[in-house]
Amino acid sequence: MTPALSVLEKTFGYNSFRGQQAEIIQQVIDGGDALVLMPTGGGKSLCYQIPALVRNGTGIVISPLIALMQDQVDALSALGVRAAFLNSTQDGTERMRVEAAFLAGELDLLYLAPERLSVSSTVELLDRGRIALFAIDEAHCVSQWGHDFRPDYLRLSMLHEHWPNVPRIALTATATEVTHAEITKRLDLGGARHFVASFDRPNIQYRIESKNQPLQQLLTLLRTEHPGDAGIVYCLSRASVEKTADFLVEQGIPALPYHAGLDTAVRQRNQSRFLREDGIVMVATIAFGMGIDKPDVRFVAHLDLPKSVEGYYQETGRAGRDGLPSTAWLAYGLQDVVQQRRMIDQSEGDRAHRQRLTQHLDAMLALCETLECRRVQLLAYFGQASDPCGNCDTCLAPPEGWDGTIPAQKLLSTVVRLFRERNQKFGAGHIIDILVGKHTPRVTENGHDTLTTFGIGADLTDQEWRGVVRQLLAQGLLAVNSDGFGTLVITDASAGVLDGSRPVRLRREPDRPAKAAKKSAVASSLPGEAVPLFERLREWRAGAARDQGVPAYIVFGDATLRGIALTRPATLAELASISGVGEKKLDTYGEQLLEVVAAG
Ligand code: ADP
Ligand code: ZN
Repeated sequence: MTPALSVLEKTFGYNSFRGQQAEIIQQVIDGGDALVLMPTGGGKSLCYQIPALVRNGTGIVISPLIALMQDQVDALSALGVRAAFLNSTQDGTERMRVEAAFLAGELDLLYLAPERLSVSSTVELLDRGRIALFAIDEAHCVSQWGHDFRPDYLRLSMLHEHWPNVPRIALTATATEVTHAEITKRLDLGGARHFVASFDRPNIQYRIESKNQPLQQLLTLLRTEHPGDAGIVYCLSRASVEKTADFLVEQGIPALPYHAGLDTAVRQRNQSRFLREDGIVMVATIAFGMGIDKPDVRFVAHLDLPKSVEGYYQETGRAGRDGLPSTAWLAYGLQDVVQQRRMIDQSEGDRAHRQRLTQHLDAMLALCETLECRRVQLLAYFGQASDPCGNCDTCLAPPEGWDGTIPAQKLLSTVVRLFRERNQKFGAGHIIDILVGKHTPRVTENGHDTLTTFGIGADLTDQEWRGVVRQLLAQGLLAVNSDGFGTLVITDASAGVLDGSRPVRLRREPDRPAKAAKKSAVASSLPGEAVPLFERLREWRAGAARDQGVPAYIVFGDATLRGIALTRPATLAELASISGVGEKKLDTYGEQLLEVVAAG
């Protein structure tokens, strides 16, 4: 047995490596550099933790996630690994204690915030100790074009210059081809071995539906498919975060808000509750989430349209790191398109910047409106080809395409007439009123009931018309005016639709049958007879986590509890064979677990 495999079994309690883990780990153990692109939940941590344990000295992990270092260290300590961190949250005594442990060779892993490397005393400290490797986590933070750029990451090229003989491993879950090239260049990893895994997350079910009553839609999702599950709900603004969290709490769902406008202490407390307690729903802006390695997030819901596919994929990727079934759900509507186009028009920065934002938005809209498999489209965005997945909404209930040329002509000609004949511009609501022939006060006052297009669209409902407008906006056949009022104007491409030379394909959303699951997603993936034990194990875990003040998943992940519920071990030896039960945890919890199983 190789040293790496033995550490995997004894310390982590796993039987075999996943994907390219074995090769990556061997490369670093042998002293080589590696650049690892692997999706969230793929198992990146082991790729540097095991080499750090096998090689002499301490593995230095550079991570931007100061707020999570304590949990990372706790998780390792629970496995019997000697880990510590150095960052700005510590006082002098604490820092000295960690430094002394490092110098004495008593640390397997040491987490460092990147800014510490600009302090000369840190470099001197590292020079005096023995370094097994450098791991650069969240390596995409070095990319200036990506969405998480951290200036401190640019300094990391010094690792190679200062310690040319120490192997480096850089890891990220998010990289288009452009970002990949930028990481390679800035971290000087041209000579490293590159490991690019499939970005697919097969256990996540991708679903995008049109937004009618978003809060009710969200509630239905949570009640029917995810009762008692932990999850994240993303909203664009602080106000909608607050409103959504209040609504969920009123409905009896334990939800907490998180956004940059909250006190640091409140934010910290909410994050810590989300990590520590079972079944909390975090309602957040995208300020929340990077590095959250809670493995049992069962759903990620977006109530507003994300600004880019990269952001969306990274946010949804926080679901289901443990590989168990999870949901990525997005509700998206006409208002999202109007609002985002407006935000781009009003954004600071030059024309090139606005163009980039527009490209990002267009790619996101194309994903929302696609008739094809969502996953195929997502993976293609990251340069990976795949086949229809069978686990996304368009695969499960294929939407129909329909010929929307005539409705598009009716709508566009209304916009044109208002402008040419009356020199007026209006938003979608009023234009739809004209099309369906509603005598609203505004229609009557403006005499819009005398337009030749008044009432010519009565064959579609308001809701259907909103879908038409949304899709025309998404396809660039209609635009939001930059006056800040959300009025609609035609585009250069509209002409082809109006003169009949360009057909318009639209998508009709299928009616989705309401699901009637009443169990949490993980429980419903278990055979019925294993569910009561699984629930008892979860209760036991909550108590154990509370007693020790650590997140529940540090005690055991859902995947391990699932394994126990399925196999009902009666002896310590049987328990030890379950994935996720290593030596230290068997020692700490073995007897208690056997009692829980036997009590059933
Ligand atoms: P990433 O950092 O890539 O998002 P993690 O390192 O957090 O992923 O791993 C995700 C989950 O998978 C963790 O719960 C981890 O313990 C588990 N895991 C990783 N490698 C293996 C393996 N070889 N066998 C079983 N479970 C694994
Ligand atoms: Zn699919």
